[in-house]
Order: sequence, then C-alpha cells, then structure tokens
Amino acid sequence: MAEVLGHCEACNAKIRTGDACHYTADGCWLCDDHAPMLSDAIRQHQEIAEAPWFDPGSLNYDSLDDLLAQMNRMRRELAEKGDRKLLVTA
Ligand SMILES: [Zn+2]
Repeated sequence: MAEVLGHCEACNAKIRTGDACHYTADGCWLCDDHAPMLSDAIRQHQEIAEAPWFDPGSLNYDSLDDLLAQMNRMRRELAEKGDRKLLVTA
C-alpha cells in the first residue's frame, strides 16, 4: 500500500506516494482537484510585484527581480502551452 504523505489542505483527501498533487511553497499539500492553475500562480506573483514594498510571503524569492524573472517564465509557458494545473507526482 502506498504511503500517505499528507492531506489536502482544502478537502483533507489523503495524498499518497505516486498521486498527482501540488506541494505549496509553505509546505502544504493540495489534491488534484484543489491544485492551483498556472494562471493562478501568475496572478499571485503579479500581486506581490505590484505591492508597494517587496514581501514574497511564503514564496522563496530573494528579490523582486527574481520574482519577475519567474513570472515571465510562467507567462511564456502560458502563452506557448496554455493553462495547466500545477501538479507534481508525490
Ligand atoms: Zn482537495
């Protein structure tokens, strides 16, 4: 039986080894149903970039330039491949 790694932050579903899921920057699991979209992540980055002072919160960025570079990469991916759920294999 696959090991239970955690529970979805939104619905408490079990996340097992091999499941498609999302692991947030602040260490929470989200199940397939509740994983954010690429466009959600871009919006989140945009909000941080537009704030009056730089506060990346739980996101791991040292500077606004780092954040903007990643945001541009995600925007390029969205433009080239369209929106997708941000899933990894647990
Ligand atoms: Zn869920």
